[in-house]
Amino acid sequence: MSTLVFHTRPGFDALTGLPDRAAFIAALRSAMGMQQGLAVLFLDLDDFKLVNDGFGHEAGDRLLIQVAQRLRGAVHDGDLVARIGGDEFTVLCHDADQTGATILAGRIRGALSAPFDIAGQRRHIRVSIGCRAAGPDESDADVLLRDADTAMYQAKEAGKDRVEFFSDATRAKLLRRLDLEQRLRTAIEHQELTVSYQPQIDLGSGRLVGAEALVRWSEASPVEFIPLAEETGLIAPLGEFVLRTATKTLARLHADGLKPLTITVNVSTRQLEDPDFPVLVKDAIEQAGIDPSHLCLEITESALMAAKSVALDRLRECKAHGVYVGIDDFGTGHSSLARLRDLPVEVLKVDRSFVDGLGTEPEDSAVVAAILSLAHALGLHVVAEGVETPLQANQLIALGCSVAQGFLWSPAVPAAELRGLTGIATAAHPRVRGHRGERSLVDEMMHQLGIAKEAVA
Ligand code: C2E
Ligand code: CA
Ligand code: CA
Repeated sequence: MSTLVFHTRPGFDALTGLPDRAAFIAALRSAMGMQQGLAVLFLDLDDFKLVNDGFGHEAGDRLLIQVAQRLRGAVHDGDLVARIGGDEFTVLCHDADQTGATILAGRIRGALSAPFDIAGQRRHIRVSIGCRAAGPDESDADVLLRDADTAMYQAKEAGKDRVEFFSDATRAKLLRRLDLEQRLRTAIEHQELTVSYQPQIDLGSGRLVGAEALVRWSEASPVEFIPLAEETGLIAPLGEFVLRTATKTLARLHADGLKPLTITVNVSTRQLEDPDFPVLVKDAIEQAGIDPSHLCLEITESALMAAKSVALDRLRECKAHGVYVGIDDFGTGHSSLARLRDLPVEVLKVDRSFVDGLGTEPEDSAVVAAILSLAHALGLHVVAEGVETPLQANQLIALGCSVAQGFLWSPAVPAAELRGLTGIATAAHPRVRGHRGERSLVDEMMHQLGIAKEAVA
């Protein structure tokens, strides 16, 4: 193993003595001109930030030096190891195809698997590795490095601590994503997105009491384009469009006499990073002329748990403007009780995965019962989502849940249809009471809504 050089030299990283990014790319360029085949490995330590934050930067630096030494020991003579960023290392592997690169990646993982000395403690670290093998006809070093980097990101996304290869499938996926991003950008600019509303039903009365605003695009499902919008920043204009549309819709519905209706709008943490978000909320409320207590902003539990305190302060600012705040997908994001008590929220939305097994999986009923008693203890409202069967709805009523939404009643529909639905549900209200003895409340509501039990059971 070669010894490290610690003083600054051009082309070398001062901390580890390894070649730096510029030197690596230069070496890669000249190798591409001569070699038959080669491979680039892109390494990124998993959770290196935890070492820096937990043990200090000096401990982090010492770890990087140890990693550099082990990497040099793991590669063949003639292969080049470089440090190209904070905790990012690259390896140029000569005369290697995919098989050779796989073997080398395995050796590197082996070399890094023994514990490291971190601030006097023996600790294990993990690494994510992206590989890109190149044939003799390829000539762009930057593309090669970028592809290896992309493969490393795939390794991170797939759960870290693994090796991923950049393949034709990766390239195709990347291109599809870029294409989707471009089309989404255009769709937002040309106002091609729409907002649909999923009814929320009061289980005690059968009345329509609210609706969740869900964005719609003819080209893709929100499950696909919302994460993309969050990563690219497009969530800001998209979120503003949904908020302004939903508040205007609410104003119209209220003007039509549907006064008790509350509308819930989904908010991503990325939107809370904008210091002006509370101003936007206030402006949307004023422009639409709505009572803010009929607007609920909903954020997923996992996003709330990961949110920085400044983001939570922004939510508090929104609350100060009179809106409600709710936790979406509750039960999936590992809230701590202490944290929950301090969060600026008033509504818990029970995740669909627990509603799913109501009446069939005893564990699910137990979880929902626990969430309900927790909510009652903390003085929070509860909404159940993803209700698809009368059995689930009846279980919710038995457990004391008051509001629910789901395909049992309706998917998200255009605002105009929501108005129609309200008519039926509201008219049903007195009759539901009168027939309670003969039919279950849910059966009655279904009957009034014109839904055949067999069609949904
Ligand atoms: P979410 O907030 O949990 O929304 C509920 C999703 O479950 C919706 O899917 C809805 O159509 C679906 N759903 C409703 N009832 C049922 C049911 O009974 N069974 C089943 N299997 N599914 C049901 P959608 O509209 O595809 O939205 C998916 C996700 O996209 C939403 O999950 C939300 O996280 C996100 N999203 C949608 N619109 C917006 C938006 O305007 N802004 C933001 N930030 N996110 C949005
Ligand atoms: Ca939601
Ligand atoms: Ca949800």
